Amino acid sequence: GDDDATPGSVAGAVGFPHAPDTDLAVAADRHLLRSAVRAWTVPDGSSGAGGASGRPAAPPRPDPDHAVVVVDTRGVDAAVARVAAAGRTWGALDAATRAGILRRAAEELAHRRAELVGVMVAEAGKTVAEADPEVSEAVDFARYYADRALELDSVRGATHAPGPGITLVTPPWNFPISIPVGAALAALAAGTGVLVKPAPQTPRCARVAFAAVHAALDAAGAPLDALLVAECPEGDVGRHLATHDGVARVLLTGSIDTARLFATWRPDRDVLAETSGKNAIVVTPSADVDLAVADVVRSAFGHAGQKCSAASLLVLVGSAGFDDRLRRQLADAVTSLPVGPAEDPRTVVGPLIDAPHGDLLRALTTLDPGEEWLVQPRRLADRLWTPGVRHGVVAGSWFHRTECFGPVLGVVRVATLDEAIAVQNAVPFGLTGGLHSLDEHEIERWLGAVEVGNAYVNRTITGAVVARQPFGGWKQSVVGPGAKAGGPHYVAQIGSWSDAPGVP
Ligand code: GLU
Repeated sequence: GDDDATPGSVAGAVGFPHAPDTDLAVAADRHLLRSAVRAWTVPDGSSGAGGASGRPAAPPRPDPDHAVVVVDTRGVDAAVARVAAAGRTWGALDAATRAGILRRAAEELAHRRAELVGVMVAEAGKTVAEADPEVSEAVDFARYYADRALELDSVRGATHAPGPGITLVTPPWNFPISIPVGAALAALAAGTGVLVKPAPQTPRCARVAFAAVHAALDAAGAPLDALLVAECPEGDVGRHLATHDGVARVLLTGSIDTARLFATWRPDRDVLAETSGKNAIVVTPSADVDLAVADVVRSAFGHAGQKCSAASLLVLVGSAGFDDRLRRQLADAVTSLPVGPAEDPRTVVGPLIDAPHGDLLRALTTLDPGEEWLVQPRRLADRLWTPGVRHGVVAGSWFHRTECFGPVLGVVRVATLDEAIAVQNAVPFGLTGGLHSLDEHEIERWLGAVEVGNAYVNRTITGAVVARQPFGGWKQSVVGPGAKAGGPHYVAQIGSWSDAPGVP
């Protein structure tokens, strides 16, 4: 009962309407995506990612590539200098102008939705069902951070400037559009120049996405060099970039190992990293089993498990009878998942980014004492594996504590909710976690004790939502001040970093 509420607002709060995903029931929209996917994946009649021919050939590219520089070590110096110079002009623009350009960037991204989906399917091996919401998330980030730029300005006054130096964004390949776009636009919202170094697996995703952002800068007559994409080799050139004097801060999303490397390279506190996870969903006997199984399967095997938010443990509380029922349903659900090339509209579990090696290969092929396959993974091609479920994973074992980043789920059985929480918390990471329970006391107890950044009750544990469920970790899943992406403090944290460390 709020008389002041305007349509679209909740209890007087300013609403944040999210960009809608494509409705695949609408034939015209479905066909638009299909033809974009085909343009990126079938250059010469053969299949693209996930198929025999590997990566796709060059696609049609309507946008000029002025966002992209390809650099060697000396090129790094030049690129940093260009961004720094343009960044000063950019930072001097008032917040309303910057916010307007970010909103225009949101429109440009939305306008290129089909192309963005196509390039993600081809290059990152995402299915349309996974790629399409990622475009919506990128659009949401742009609009949400535009609002934060205005807010920051009204709190701090127009004179606030984030200080000298540019922001370096180093995103992963698994969300090759929404993560780099989100981080880069947050840095622009904060008033800094940005250099993006795309993941080496997904340079074309960055090209298409940042051409959209450049179109927005261009339309406003803003300096284009305020945002550049530097394609450079990882080794010495990458290190030169990451340790460059002109780089004031790094926004990194990647593995814990990469984050540690960056932290060693830059011993000051100006690395903000979102890192690994070893995420569990707890299911108690009070749960709706149908819902729990569906959410566990989606959380574990969406994008073939290649998300730092993915579920890789199911912690089952309770009796043998409950365990049997859930086990059967889980095995049926997992063996029913269609596995295939990303561009096939029937596919749910698509290809891996690379042939599995190291921890993932071990997880897909080798059991430890006490474990058995509830569903044994099968190799269909180098990069294509059917999903697997290990049952009887022992608390404290290798699989319990190791992030494997692929389509493998481990089931741990425990007697009580408290034991389940202990299993869930006994990992070095704290990114996402889930509970399926219809008992409010259990929910309360769990929420008070679980050590994760994003705790989800009775839903999937992947797919954070800009503004509503900001995304970020705890424990070793985060490095730096730790404000969540898509949350109220993310932009402020960038602006205030050097002058006020320790922002929440
Ligand atoms: N934000 C994504 C999600 O909520 C995860 C990002 C990642 O895996 O890096 O599923």
